[in-house]
Amino acid sequence: MKSFLATTLLIMPAMHTLETPTAQAHSVSHHVNIVINGKVKQFENSPFISNGTTYVPIRYVSETVGAKVKWDQKTKGVTITKEDMNISFVAGQRGATINGQKVDMPSAQLIKGTTMVPLRFVSEALGLEVAWDAQYKTALIGDTNLVELETLGLDEVKLEVLDWSVANNAFPIGTEATVTDVETGRTFKVKRTYGANHADSEPLTASDAQVMKELWGGSYSWTPRAIILEFGDKKLAAAMHSFPHSVQKITNNGYNGHFCIHFQNSTRHKDGRIQQSMQQKVQEAANSGM
Ligand SMILES: [Zn+2]
Repeated sequence: MKSFLATTLLIMPAMHTLETPTAQAHSVSHHVNIVINGKVKQFENSPFISNGTTYVPIRYVSETVGAKVKWDQKTKGVTITKEDMNISFVAGQRGATINGQKVDMPSAQLIKGTTMVPLRFVSEALGLEVAWDAQYKTALIGDTNLVELETLGLDEVKLEVLDWSVANNAFPIGTEATVTDVETGRTFKVKRTYGANHADSEPLTASDAQVMKELWGGSYSWTPRAIILEFGDKKLAAAMHSFPHSVQKITNNGYNGHFCIHFQNSTRHKDGRIQQSMQQKVQEAANSGM
């Protein structure tokens, strides 16, 4: 897959406003790289993705850029200072204070004694540029423009073609993912909400639904399209139609129902059979070289 920062920035995992630490048991990936000012950094506690948000160890990131970090064991309070900047927050609690101003932040997570904060917060609080490269599952911090990830010896995430029996568990209900339309390269976000024969999914937001509509030529359709599905450290070949039908879980996305994401050998609702036109599109995604 071609990887330009201009496009990868668009799929930068957003901070999830309703996220709570208890809701993060699933879809956690530990295979995330971190590059600061063009250098690969190894940390005792690796950055990870939880429900689409990348978390990084705040102490190491801060110290790498010359900020001082203080940790209060009793209050679980973290204070970061750099020049005239003063940032503080409490692990496990929502929000932070930057130079006396309260700002919103999903709660920092304490993982084996290390405080992990959403990557986006690093940029907002420490004033550092951040970017996310999905191809290499790499968070770039600081000097994001000069980095040639290919030269850093990082492993590219490989496109997988999973049989439905495997994909069903690899992409569990509740997982949020980024879909890339193979033909156009356009992306939108989805969430798997149901499904036993295949992955019943819904557009995450109204703007994601709008992108879907445009991809199918202005109206939703049962016609299959080849897609690449990315979440955590996974990149899967799949296919989907866009026609809203039946039950739904997400009610504020302007999309009434769900659509179906198919994988190799997944079957359809109406007769439990494999749909050849859908399988052809899964194959097209598999052969796309993305
Ligand atoms: Zn379905």
